[in-house]
Amino acid sequence: MTELTDLSLADARRALLNKEVSAVDLAKAQIAAIEQARALNAFIKETPEVALAMAADSDARIARGEAGPLEGVPLGIKDLYCTAGVQTTAASHILEGFTPAYESTVSANLWRDGAVMLGKLNLDEFAMGSSNETSYFGPVISPWRRVGSDAALVPGGSSGGSAAAVAARLCFGATATDTGGSIRQPAAFTGTVGIKPTYGRCSRWGIVAFASSLDQAGPIARTVRDAAILLRSMAGHDPKDTTSVDLPVPDYEAAVGRSIKGMKIGIPKEYRLDGMPAEIESLWSQGVEWLKAAGATIVDISLPHTRYALPAYYIVAPAEASSNLARYDGVRFGLRVPGKDIADMYESTRAAGFGKEVRRRILIGTYVLSAGYYDAYYVRAQKIRTLIKGDFESAFAAGVDAILTPATPSAAFGVGEKGSADPVEMYLNDIFTVTVNMAGLPGIAVPAGTSSEGLPLGLQLIGRAFDEETLFAAAEVIEQSAPKVSLPARWWA
Ligand code: GLN
Repeated sequence: MTELTDLSLADARRALLNKEVSAVDLAKAQIAAIEQARALNAFIKETPEVALAMAADSDARIARGEAGPLEGVPLGIKDLYCTAGVQTTAASHILEGFTPAYESTVSANLWRDGAVMLGKLNLDEFAMGSSNETSYFGPVISPWRRVGSDAALVPGGSSGGSAAAVAARLCFGATATDTGGSIRQPAAFTGTVGIKPTYGRCSRWGIVAFASSLDQAGPIARTVRDAAILLRSMAGHDPKDTTSVDLPVPDYEAAVGRSIKGMKIGIPKEYRLDGMPAEIESLWSQGVEWLKAAGATIVDISLPHTRYALPAYYIVAPAEASSNLARYDGVRFGLRVPGKDIADMYESTRAAGFGKEVRRRILIGTYVLSAGYYDAYYVRAQKIRTLIKGDFESAFAAGVDAILTPATPSAAFGVGEKGSADPVEMYLNDIFTVTVNMAGLPGIAVPAGTSSEGLPLGLQLIGRAFDEETLFAAAEVIEQSAPKVSLPARWWA
């Protein structure tokens, strides 16, 4: 018999509505799975009491025939989303003990639709990282292992807790955020589906800000359909975020299964990197074949400014971060380290509260914004951003419907294996994903195969602004064509 926690979100929702299972029983099954999976360190805070109370309310609504679109479905929330009355840390010591009085708009939308909160998921500190190793609360361990090895692997980052929890069946789906790849890279590393919607599709209100012009909320789920269901609830205009867009939210689930016959898929030559592993190259060609077999036309395209995207991102993102993080000074939120005067208190609090990677970003950001360097770095990076956006616009203007690329340059790596000597080694993880944030476009990562070591690998589809539906349709073709890979046995339980 399949265990309850193995159901897809879509099937769990159906079982709830048909009263085959109660929301309370479903929540209890997930709570038990979470308790057995503490070795993964996916949660910073488990909220079983909250889950059971919300599930009881869901059961009552189901009984009254008032079920919402996510009624009774247990979810995990990245600990970057403010949750009223529940500690929100951004995985930073500086926010430890901070309990928001308000709820983020996106999580509020999920509760409005009947979802149940299981707890707050681990992440890289302030979402800065690609491995979940910068978390003050310790790294998340991936439920995946290389064949024949029990070495601990990273789940990717920054939404590492979200990806690990979804892959390990600790929740039916999770919220995540993506500034440069933090939804798509961990999804690719864990064999899950992650979509970063168009900038402005989801409200950023109540999500701890990293780089405001790049940050977007999105779901991580086990199937394309589940991701579509979640995004529909998460998305929407919010007057409290002036960058959220006032456009109707489509029924994304209806796009899943839609034919891609006649669709034009672009293959950007600049994404073929020197020294790219052969297995990534062949995964990409395999993806091309699957889309062709489903009736799509494949065209070679050029996105000439691609190689400047990562360096420009590492100017824009730290610049915005240094400004956003100025508010953590020991006065209003979380940690306060007393000092002999107020300046000393600020300095001691920030020195004790921020981890190494966050300090590095603040230093870089402050430097590139400083009077003598602003034009040389920040202004130039913004110009490059415009050129990157222009590359995509030209491809779409030439009739391309979506662009297919690898999601990551490699499979998951070991904990402690990358980036300690040279941070750029870690930054390179986002080589295929940052361009999408710089251009504000939607991108989805979908599992497409396995590495020689038996680890999941993902492909990425990039779409026109506000055309997430095309991405869901094409991603489902890949999902259906790809060989099914299953998680290793539950070694963590
Ligand atoms: N890994 C990238 C960074 O460290 C992106 C992180 C993200 O998308 N939040 O900045």
